[in-house]
Amino acid sequence: MEVARTIKSVREFVKAARSKGKKIGLAPTMGALHIGHISLIEAAVKECDFVVVSIFVNPAQFGPGEDFQEYPRPFEADLEICRKAGVDVVFAPGPEQMYRTENLTWVSVEKLTEGLCGRSRPTHFRGVTTVCTKLFNIVAPDTAFFGQKDAQQAIVIKRMAADLNMPLEIVICPTVREPGGLAVSSRNQYLNEKEKKDATFIYKSLQQCQQLIRDGVTQSDAIISEMRKILRQASSIEEIEYISVVDAETLQDVEKVEGAVLVAVAVKIGPSRLIDNILLDTSKE
Ligand code: AMP
Repeated sequence: MEVARTIKSVREFVKAARSKGKKIGLAPTMGALHIGHISLIEAAVKECDFVVVSIFVNPAQFGPGEDFQEYPRPFEADLEICRKAGVDVVFAPGPEQMYRTENLTWVSVEKLTEGLCGRSRPTHFRGVTTVCTKLFNIVAPDTAFFGQKDAQQAIVIKRMAADLNMPLEIVICPTVREPGGLAVSSRNQYLNEKEKKDATFIYKSLQQCQQLIRDGVTQSDAIISEMRKILRQASSIEEIEYISVVDAETLQDVEKVEGAVLVAVAVKIGPSRLIDNILLDTSKE
């Protein structure tokens, strides 16, 4: 496995692989790799012949007062995980590689970024779409792999790639969970035992939502209020930032569950802000 610290070197590795006719896969990450990331890497290894994992804690997607400084950076452990998973190149640029001068060019996706996490993190998605555009331009993958765990991000990236005719395929991999149901996240390591236990109520609330819909409940308000009751049982959940039932394509709130909907939750628990979601297609249930 190679480690590329510069844009020039990762481009050289990819160029050599492409000249051999290899299909290039990219899994963009911020490091602190866990089994969620590994599932993306495994999908990439399965589908592609040459896999690049980027590790870059992207300052542009953190807002003021967010955890950019504290974000875990266990680089050597990350390299070991990548090596074991069969990655060909880890691209780990310093910030000066990615944002060499004052950045004047941003890629923003409208509408889809306004609700859900966009409400409390107004510059987050602009940071994500800009860095992903850069990574796509640098690595030029045939396929890029993202996680359903960050559902809004997945939809925004797919839309960006389609709107801007980016010549790659976007694959969304299912959310990987701990045995108790908690979605695996690099930010779970900020939690103490009690907070971790309470965090399992997030998925419990989503499962309750799924059950209610199966039982024929269709009013979003009724579903949200039942989910809120479950989250309130967890005393370390200090704030429910949102519980939303939205159209799975437009991300607009729906009053009634019909067709494909995304049910998404964001809570503050201890030092972490955690998100989770489920996608439901009532026409298929
Ligand atoms: P991050 O390092 O948090 O920026 O995440 C990098 C990629 O891994 C994103 O596409 C995430 O959606 C994905 N990811 C993070 N956690 C999980 C998980 N538990 N299951 C599946 N994908 C995940």
